[in-house]
Amino acid sequence: MSVYLDNAATTKPCKAAVEAAVAAMTENYGNPSSLHRAGLDAQLAVDKARKIIADTLGADSVCIYFTSGATESNNLALRGITGAYGRNRKKIVVSAVEHASVAETASDLEKKGFEVVRVSPREDGKFYAADFAAACDSSTCLVSMMLVNNETGYILPVRETFAAVKRRFPETVTHCDCVQGYMKLPVKAGALGADLISLSGHKIHGVKGVGAIYIKKGIRVTPVVTGGKQEKGIRSGTESVPLIAAFGAAAEELFPTVAARYERVSVLKKHLLDRLSGMDNVLVNSPEDGSPYIINISVVGRRSEIMLHFLESKGIYVSSGSACSKGQQSGVLEQFGIKDKRADGALRISITAETTEAELDEFAEALSEGIGKVRG
Ligand code: PMP
Repeated sequence: MSVYLDNAATTKPCKAAVEAAVAAMTENYGNPSSLHRAGLDAQLAVDKARKIIADTLGADSVCIYFTSGATESNNLALRGITGAYGRNRKKIVVSAVEHASVAETASDLEKKGFEVVRVSPREDGKFYAADFAAACDSSTCLVSMMLVNNETGYILPVRETFAAVKRRFPETVTHCDCVQGYMKLPVKAGALGADLISLSGHKIHGVKGVGAIYIKKGIRVTPVVTGGKQEKGIRSGTESVPLIAAFGAAAEELFPTVAARYERVSVLKKHLLDRLSGMDNVLVNSPEDGSPYIINISVVGRRSEIMLHFLESKGIYVSSGSACSKGQQSGVLEQFGIKDKRADGALRISITAETTEAELDEFAEALSEGIGKVRG
């Protein structure tokens, strides 16, 4: 039996998601664009998922567009907004700890002539809304800030930041990558003040290869993928009905338990931290008030990858830093003041409400054994 503690990388699809995907592959397999009954049924399945996701965000269904994942949603947000508004407004402001799908896209836009301002946390490791507002001016077309950092679980002050930016520059479009917050913390489009929100199916017990973007009414976005004008022309390509149906089913199942699961996961985080406290050279990198779903620690003097493979040999799966960076340091930990040997020894443990205390005990024991056995 393995112990899977890498839920920020991906989650196990829930039964409802698998069943919805299977139904859309075995029975409801029409193309939503077809004009006959099979097409209509497929379109209804897509629209059902759209309504579920819209409701969870407190949004209207017409604001939800399906994509191939949050990487595409983030690309669409940055490229789509700079495409629509960037002719005379050449500046974009992003946090310095964004996922690669925002950070790399911003760097690409920089090469194409946009000015990118990357706002870092202050000395205390915290982000301040005022720093983002100060980085903006009347030429800023977009501010992009994630809700929960995928490496540390740090919760960024999105609501305060977007409010501060809009107060001074109401024309600036706001985008929030909510991938690691959705179905874990309350995520409402209105409360966040976000004009655009990116979501991913496989982080909420759906299936890989589907995501969504919320686009507030009235916001213009230049499409990245052009073609048959599916998703009202915002994202062409035949909709993946099975993956979309699975995404909707997963969201429907998780939505009523966001608060209860948060409580449970907070208890689990505390349990793990209690087990780790007092262990030699183990430091906690996640903030106390971060998302309890992500716990980043460092074993100073033991390289992440070596420790990761030692744990793997015991059937325990965790991540070094972030799974997306495949062992390469993304620089995000450094932004939070975690450097050198401490960064080299970083491990990310990411849990769900189904994780058990016994699994966390098993991890803690294996880690302790590893600290004794592993060199380098
Ligand atoms: N943003 C964040 C914060 C993420 O953690 C991830 C997944 N690692 C993504 C975006 C990309 O999502 P997807 O895998 O759906 O492309």
